[in-house]
Amino acid sequence: MLPDLETLLIVQDRDLRILALRKDIANMPRMIDLAKTRLHGDQTAVAKAKEALQANEVLVKRLELDIQTRRNTLQRLRTQQFETKKNEEYQALGNEVERYLGDIGRLEDEELGLMEKSEQLRAALTAAESALRRTQELVDAELRQLEERRRNDEGQITELIGERNAFTAKVEAQLLAIYDRLFKAKQGAALVALLAGQCKGCHMKVTTSTVLKAKAEQEVTHCENCGRILYFDE
Ligand SMILES: [Zn+2]
Repeated sequence: MLPDLETLLIVQDRDLRILALRKDIANMPRMIDLAKTRLHGDQTAVAKAKEALQANEVLVKRLELDIQTRRNTLQRLRTQQFETKKNEEYQALGNEVERYLGDIGRLEDEELGLMEKSEQLRAALTAAESALRRTQELVDAELRQLEERRRNDEGQITELIGERNAFTAKVEAQLLAIYDRLFKAKQGAALVALLAGQCKGCHMKVTTSTVLKAKAEQEVTHCENCGRILYFDE
């Protein structure tokens, strides 16, 4: 193989690794979003549990007001009953008092039922909140790992660029420029094997003269289909 091509293969190895690392970094915002979407289900569950509890608390408050109103009326009826001198009125007020006592009893039973339901809803909310906390911890850990991975990727890229530069210095400038242009255009390998008459970049058969030229290893040969630089492979 032409010595420049041997060096270029090393350069290309570093370039391919740099390319993969840059893709990994470019993919990170999507992965961060994906990690965060894992919170959505738990966040919705907490919101729903909160809503159900609040709705029930509103019912409890309303009942309490109803009960209080009836208690006030009851108080008034009892005072009236105490003050009346008429037997008939006393009896009628007595019936009203009984009716109100019955109402209050029923409403208090109802309130008790709602308060028990509130307790259950509060327990459900606590469970939903702790599930969210657990997921949040997992997501936070995942985000920290991603951040670490990004830093690691960047460190590796810096290192690989250093290695690459040490090798490119040995390659003839014009060939290096062609290689760089090709690598950028193909977003990948610019220097590929010519194996059994086939370019390993575009997987097309090349002409016999191209095969012979590559095999002679006297000058740089390009694939006539995709333009990549070829090295002859047995
Ligand atoms: Zn090709």
